[in-house]
Amino acid sequence: MRVAIAGCGIAGLAAASALARAGHDVTLYERFSEPRPLGAGLLLQPSGLAALRWLGLEPAACQAGARIERLYGRTPAGRRVMDLRYAEAAADDHGVGIHRASLFGLLHTSALEAGARIETGAEIAGLTEGGQPRFILANEDETPPADLAVIADGTHSTLRRAICPGARERLYPWGAVWAVVEDRDGRWTREGELAQIYRGCEVMIGILPVGRDPLHPDRDASVSLFWSLRPADEPAWRTDGLSAFRRQLNRHWPESATLLDGEADLSGFSLATYRDIRCSRWHRGQAVLIGDAAHGTSPQLGQGANLALGDAVALADTLEPGRLLHPVLTRFENRRRPTVRFYSWASWALTPLFQSRSRFLAFWRDLLFGPLSRLPVIRNIMAATLTGRGAFPPWGGNRR
Ligand SMILES: Cc1cc2nc3c(=O)[nH]c(=O)nc-3n(C[C@H](O)[C@H](O)[C@H](O)COP(=O)(O)OP(=O)(O)OC[C@H]3O[C@@H](n4cnc5c(N)ncnc54)[C@H](O)[C@@H]3O)c2cc1C
Repeated sequence: MRVAIAGCGIAGLAAASALARAGHDVTLYERFSEPRPLGAGLLLQPSGLAALRWLGLEPAACQAGARIERLYGRTPAGRRVMDLRYAEAAADDHGVGIHRASLFGLLHTSALEAGARIETGAEIAGLTEGGQPRFILANEDETPPADLAVIADGTHSTLRRAICPGARERLYPWGAVWAVVEDRDGRWTREGELAQIYRGCEVMIGILPVGRDPLHPDRDASVSLFWSLRPADEPAWRTDGLSAFRRQLNRHWPESATLLDGEADLSGFSLATYRDIRCSRWHRGQAVLIGDAAHGTSPQLGQGANLALGDAVALADTLEPGRLLHPVLTRFENRRRPTVRFYSWASWALTPLFQSRSRFLAFWRDLLFGPLSRLPVIRNIMAATLTGRGAFPPWGGNRR
């Protein structure tokens, strides 16, 4: 099949690699003149690692990133809120914190080696209707006709409504500023955990070891540092500057403030915003949505990239050339829906517990999360959720 893909992000590159490996003729279109990774370090879950295994990239991802055994979140006073170990889901389970550029590099090389073509500087503005789909570019050119158009243009997708006109696209009121900084003495990397501090729902600091930083090859180990922030408050946060930020970190989590030692100012920090995306349908005619374009979530559960990788592999695995496309795409959607519906719901329900101004939610979260998470059934659901194997119904347990 001739496959045209919109967007050279995680979903687009993984789909390009998987589909080209399966023998399809793949062209990927990206608006940037240089494909480049945007955003923070990522936590690859066992579900995402399984998709990378399918692509033959799991060992390289593990080598580039840092092994994560545990998710540990507490209040500044030391009250435990989240404490989940991957080994509780399955003895050999673990996550991998990885620099986004490392994952991007692996997928990019894999797609090119599999024979996919990447056309850059191609800003897509629309999709033709009926028959063989073509992307309409911003300069009004059209791409050649394809047998299948895969729309992977991310959470702020231009093409989503061409497939699902009634899509829900709610911007979360809180975002986060983040930077990848050096883990000078390797302390955070050795601990092997995604560590978080919560003070009420208004303060959340996260530290994720990401292994090697391809942009700073001289550094042995790096971490991704997150600070929860409302986009409207970003200008004031920048004006206050590095010293004020260091004071804030010192106040809530003194050990984390030393991560700023190598920073001269706040220019290494970028703001990320995210949306809650729900689509009642993911395909129409010969076009299909995957990744954040189909189901954007907040990064609170660390699942978006893992879902994107899962979509790409499931699509390649489901496509059967020669079969009618509509039932094949319906089968793809049915295969992915239970997992995606679960994470969309969980992300929507849990995000205000960590990013909002609600004292009520903070009080009950701090009071109940620790004890509840020790109940066997709840613990099982939480472990399956962490690993990326959550699905409706949640009490269905750990799906391997
Ligand atoms: C701060 C933060 C932390 C996160 N942490 C995690 C984590 O720990 N674990 C996890 O699993 N997920 C995490 N995520 C979510 C994850 O980043 C996304 O789910 C993932 O990047 C989605 O991949 P995608 O390919 O669908 O979209 P993207 O990666 O956004 O890629 C979309 C691509 O499409 C291109 N594009 C867009 N519009 C056009 C157009 N009109 N024409 C041509 N090209 C276009 C873009 O330039 C981009 O290259 C995090 C997100 C954020 C913001």
